[in-house]
Amino acid sequence: MNYKTSISFRKETLTKLLNAIIMQETEIIQALQDDFKKPAFEAVLTETNYVITELKATIKKLRKWTQPKRVMPSLLNFPSTDYIHSEPYGKVLIIAPWNYPFQLALCPLVAAVAAGNQVVLKPSELTPKTAAIITTIIEKVFHINHVEVQEGGIEVAQKLLSQRWDYIFFTGSVAVGKIVAAAAAVHLTPVTLELGGKNPCIIDETANLKLAAKRIVWGKFINAGQTCIAPDYILIQKNMKSHFISYLQNEITKAYGENPKLSPDFARIVNEKNWLRLVNRITPEKVVFGGQSDIEDCYIAPTIIEENDLESLLMEEEIFGPILPILTYEKESEIETILSKYEKPLALYVFTDSKTFAKKIIRNFSFGGGCINDTVVHFSNNRLPFGGVGHSGMGAYHGRLSFDTFSHKKSIVKKATWLDIPLRYAPYNGKLKSIKKILNWL
Ligand code: NAD
Repeated sequence: MNYKTSISFRKETLTKLLNAIIMQETEIIQALQDDFKKPAFEAVLTETNYVITELKATIKKLRKWTQPKRVMPSLLNFPSTDYIHSEPYGKVLIIAPWNYPFQLALCPLVAAVAAGNQVVLKPSELTPKTAAIITTIIEKVFHINHVEVQEGGIEVAQKLLSQRWDYIFFTGSVAVGKIVAAAAAVHLTPVTLELGGKNPCIIDETANLKLAAKRIVWGKFINAGQTCIAPDYILIQKNMKSHFISYLQNEITKAYGENPKLSPDFARIVNEKNWLRLVNRITPEKVVFGGQSDIEDCYIAPTIIEENDLESLLMEEEIFGPILPILTYEKESEIETILSKYEKPLALYVFTDSKTFAKKIIRNFSFGGGCINDTVVHFSNNRLPFGGVGHSGMGAYHGRLSFDTFSHKKSIVKKATWLDIPLRYAPYNGKLKSIKKILNWL
């Protein structure tokens, strides 16, 4: 079957997918809770509803997106009509992570189908209930030659990566991103790599501290800190630190109660391996809030750490859990010293009332995307490209850009036949002056 031919067919299958997700939303939310106690509110906001919104927008705009896009012709080619034709790459492999296991598998899949590709999706093995429901839905909606789910772990991913693909879309860690890039290079397969990093959250002396604390607590502890764009560490003016910590404590207690373990709104660490990795990074003497943990339940409390050692285990790599180190600076130049220790992050946040300070941070540092006076929410606007830079990834998607990501852009010049200017043709004898004049004029 040739899936790239019919826009109606793409719309029809995407509508089927939309209906299947709406029909099974309760089961999807349950699967996410079974996998790592993702709160229902977060499951709707960041997983099911996100995919539903993306699907609706794609179905609505697909015909427009697939239309050849006219561009201004070049006078050198006069007379011509120039346009960009979007064609599907062909066979696409999507490898997804576990932290937003529904959304990060389905959103690229929607775009790949919209662009007319055949897809093989490998969801994460660490969230098996969600992977199972994804398989059920996909099998119900798509023919196996069109979209197929292959569940399993590293071996399955490696086997898939050893095959030839026309496009690979990977979301996950930097380390595995490198493996994917190397496998793609064998066949010169284009890739999108949506990776991670150590996302700084910088607060200057003009910031509204109370509001900053509220928005940082939300962005850091949603999904128990297992968010690729969660603030990784705070960098705050030294004299504001203790004030800010008390605001953070207040906000954590307001959000999750005196004992966050009992809160239905606080997720768990995905597995024991990650729990251990995180607990090993908590130095008890540095804890100013939280620090409790329970392996039975893969629970780690929202934890604030006073950190002043950039060489510590906690500061070595992306935290990816509910531990928030607070670092301080006195002079602005120290911000650069700290940030330059790390690879370009996926996100950066700056809290300030100073337009100059915000501008300086945005201009001076390279990062995937971010917010001024908020965290994480840049993800929600599908008119903004979402992706990393350097070690935090390559390529970007969301909204129209997702469709473009999965389409090859063919440039076409449709030349008229009623006129054929002879200047460009050999013999060039005596034509150099004229061509120079024209090129100069253009
Ligand atoms: P991961 O890299 O361990 O796994 C991602 C996928 O790759 C899984 O499907 C897994 O089965 C597969 N995989 C694992 N090891 C492999 C190997 N050796 N060879 C081939 N495939 C392999 O990542 P994760 O733990 O699932 O997710 C957490 C990471 O993902 C964090 O670093 C986070 O920042 C990043 N992330 C990035 C984004 C983004 O949009 N940029 C979103 C979510 C998560």
